Amino acid sequence: MDNCLFCKIIKGEIPCYKIYEDEYTLAFLDIAKDVDGHTLVLPKKHFKNILDVDDETLKHVIETVKLVSKHYTSNCGFNGINIINNNEECAEQSIPHLHIHILPRKDNDNYKVFPSLSGAKHSLEENLEKLRIN
Ligand code: ZN
Repeated sequence: MDNCLFCKIIKGEIPCYKIYEDEYTLAFLDIAKDVDGHTLVLPKKHFKNILDVDDETLKHVIETVKLVSKHYTSNCGFNGINIINNNEECAEQSIPHLHIHILPRKDNDNYKVFPSLSGAKHSLEENLEKLRIN
């Protein structure tokens, strides 16, 4: 897409701190600089998010997420990884091009990555009744 920030990065119109690239995917450092190694993995083909991506493209994306995660933990001194993916504006998706965040973790880094939420409004039974895939 012409006005998509990530498509411009993929086309090389905007520079990035490239970690890995293959035929289908690109991984680069998030410029937020909030934690060391915060990396984004995205497909080169434009999809908004996981709700519209085809399965084959998603497979390539998650394979690259695994490759980068294994590299960070095997070769770069990290002990673990958080993987985060936001879909649609209500879920805090900021750039409308599918991307998966990798947050490398070290023992005792004390980052609070997993959200502390206010509590479910319905019982587990009510949620199960509404959400179960039959
Ligand atoms: Zn795009």
